[in-house]
Amino acid sequence: MPSIAENLADVRARMERAAERAGRAPGSVLLLAVTKTQPPERVREVYAAGQRHFAENRIQEFERKRPLLELPGSEWHLVGHLQSNKSHRAVQLFDVVETVDSERLARRLDEAKEQLLLSAGDRDGRGPHGLPVFLEVKLSAEPAKTGCREEELPELARRVLEFPHLQLRGLMTMPPFTEDPEGARPYYRRLREWAGRLGLPQLSMGMTHDFEVAIEEGATLVRIGTAIFGERR
Ligand SMILES: *Cc1c(COP(=O)(O)O)cnc(C)c1O
Repeated sequence: MPSIAENLADVRARMERAAERAGRAPGSVLLLAVTKTQPPERVREVYAAGQRHFAENRIQEFERKRPLLELPGSEWHLVGHLQSNKSHRAVQLFDVVETVDSERLARRLDEAKEQLLLSAGDRDGRGPHGLPVFLEVKLSAEPAKTGCREEELPELARRVLEFPHLQLRGLMTMPPFTEDPEGARPYYRRLREWAGRLGLPQLSMGMTHDFEVAIEEGATLVRIGTAIFGERR
């Protein structure tokens, strides 16, 4: 079986080739290693191979794992659904929240970030230290999917831009699963069109199954678990 380091190198090479095909600079896409369900020693292994950007999808799981991970210079993204009553924990644990899907959640995150900044000695809790966030968009009618509806997006973006302790970076989505990765392409294209319309620079889209399609469609972050760590148990 290939090692985590070998898998990582393979993913990076595939990312570069996809960027090249799309006429994009090879360094224009950030790889997030999705470490959900992975024990700390496997997270350390991918860190040792040079990976610095990570993602988890559950507050509680990361709360348990994080004290066991001393990884200087690492950055952690929350990519799973967040209930607004867990905003304080989210802001303490994560550097970036990619799953803002309502004004109510944005407001709670803004308040939580302000408190955190104040307790850290930032006098008015403002300034360049706002929490980077993405809006999660639901582009299909699947009932189980979280994310705001497309029609709500312009208004939500407008609101989120007004919160002083949030920095709106871009959009995130998870398309419905299709056997053929090409099935994701129309969703990724649509997300890119929305980002263009709203003037947002970042697009978090693409997983193990379809990250090359996502990169061809303009992803600036891809979120990859299985291709790095192997199948989750
Ligand atoms: C698990 C997960 C991923 C990674 O999925 P893989 O198929 O293992 O690459 C990406 N994004 C989100 C939101 C996830 O929950």
